[in-house]
Amino acid sequence: MSTLYIVATPIGNLGDVTYRAIETLKSVDFVAAEDTRHSKRLLNHYEIKTPLVSFHSHSSEAKIESLMVRLQKGESGAVISDAGTPCISDPGFKFVNLATLKGITVVPIPGPSALTTLISASGFPTDTFTFHGFLPHKKGRQTLIKALVDTKHCHIFYESVHRFPKLLKELETYVSVDRTICVGRELTKIHEEIWRGSVAQAMKHFNDENTRGEFVVIVAPGKFSYNLA
Ligand code: SAM
Repeated sequence: MSTLYIVATPIGNLGDVTYRAIETLKSVDFVAAEDTRHSKRLLNHYEIKTPLVSFHSHSSEAKIESLMVRLQKGESGAVISDAGTPCISDPGFKFVNLATLKGITVVPIPGPSALTTLISASGFPTDTFTFHGFLPHKKGRQTLIKALVDTKHCHIFYESVHRFPKLLKELETYVSVDRTICVGRELTKIHEEIWRGSVAQAMKHFNDENTRGEFVVIVAPGKFSYNLA
């Protein structure tokens, strides 16, 4: 039966992958990956010989369609992204949508995501949260950040190293220097850092131009203080 597996892969540490993910990637006819050279490292590490095909946010309809045809002819395929869970601020949704419309069975293989990784270690109340992915660069950005003033639950963002200082400045300007945040940098990697404190403290802490990496930021509700004592 035609099956499309949506497979979560590590967000840094290659050990963070499930047995089921490895078995699935070994068993399918093709693995559709965002950056085939990047994913080759994971496949080599686990001696997975399955052919990689390129699939990313700019892939043409024709490309997606050609992979669909393969699935409809009875092949099985897997979708992976460069890191974490496909479709979470990553391409994949159009592919999955089309597959379901065409009656192809879609099977998720759960695993890491930068989002859940930081949530689990934040110590913040996250029974309810809003995940925004990447903030818009321009239109709507300010409105969204200003709305955090009155929020009663956590808001979570993905951010690049280049825009992270801008986000801190905006939180200072439109929310409060005292608002508590949790920053996850380089999660699961050698230079992993999980930092908690106020916006003002973050501006001091992350003021080094040489700070590198990928960031997840959790903005706590106004009334939350990390120092519960
Ligand atoms: N699909 C991925 C997931 O499940 O987390 C997210 C992909 S999105 C294109 C990439 C963004 O996720 C990065 O810019 C960063 O904000 C966050 N991210 C991914 N890996 C990370 C890591 N190891 N540490 C911190 N943030 C990470």
